[in-house]
Amino acid sequence: MTTPVERLQAALETLGLKAVEARLENLLEEAAKKEPSYADFLQDLLSCEVEVRRTRYLRARLQLAHFPFVKTFEQFDFGFQPSIDERQIRELRSLRFIHDASNVIFLGPPGVGKTHLSIALAEAAIRSGLGAYFITAHDLAGDLGRAYREGRLDRRMRVYLAPKLLVIDEVGYLPLDDLGTTIFFQLVSARYERGSIILTSNKSYADWGSIFGDSIIATAILDRLLHHSTTINIRGESYRLKDRRKAGLVPPRAQEAAGAPPSLATDSVPPRTRHKTALGSTASAAKEASF
Ligand code: ADP
Ligand code: MG
Repeated sequence: MTTPVERLQAALETLGLKAVEARLENLLEEAAKKEPSYADFLQDLLSCEVEVRRTRYLRARLQLAHFPFVKTFEQFDFGFQPSIDERQIRELRSLRFIHDASNVIFLGPPGVGKTHLSIALAEAAIRSGLGAYFITAHDLAGDLGRAYREGRLDRRMRVYLAPKLLVIDEVGYLPLDDLGTTIFFQLVSARYERGSIILTSNKSYADWGSIFGDSIIATAILDRLLHHSTTINIRGESYRLKDRRKAGLVPPRAQEAAGAPPSLATDSVPPRTRHKTALGSTASAAKEASF
């Protein structure tokens, strides 16, 4: 003879309601004590399953997004980076830019939080049910270059066209070859006014000619990227350096500015802004956005 609770457990198992099954005894005990209405009891029962499924779904979506690490806005110290306009960030956090298929470009030297903020935005997008995918520019060019050589570029391109938000990290750390540049241009053109891109770069727009090896393509890429976009220029110091400075591994700011010998903290060196490459109509935007 089985008890009603055992029969209930068997039914929950058959239906795959594992979260309810695991909490059944607690839920029944609580109900006996509090005597909720039938509707409230049912709601408690089902919302525990819904919550567990939501968390599982979110975890799966986060894994699919391929973040190198998960970071949120709550973990970002805006006090450390006063060059960031918090109002601008608040606006981006509304995720309107994704609904408008507009782009966000984070520019700045290493360690200032470009990747952190990009991931925080993408994480927020996933939380609100929008698809996001993260890749570095170097891996993107490698992956699509391989697909091109194997005659499956169109199919592979879909991976980067499907998500509402594509994060392309570290544009400019390594120059792209001709194929990489052409593919990058194709991707930006295909997403133009259709899906958002968040892009991070350590190079000011004026230097993009050197990333793509060709100032005409760089201009064409920038025209499409910047048409509907927000540029966040971060001018501060590396956050990684902050901890090393605290640990005494690098000299305090004043000493460094006075020309102290080179320290371990190579990523604290601000990039030199070079305006060698003429980028046509985008050159003025580039100047404005240089750091
Ligand atoms: P970037 O992409 O600009 O090189 P990252 O976003 O990778 O820099 O930041 C480097 C590390 O410092 C990461 O672990 C990041 O979470 C952390 N970080 C950067 N800026 C901040 C900040 N203002 N508050 C908290 N953590 C930060
Ligand atoms: Mg980064």
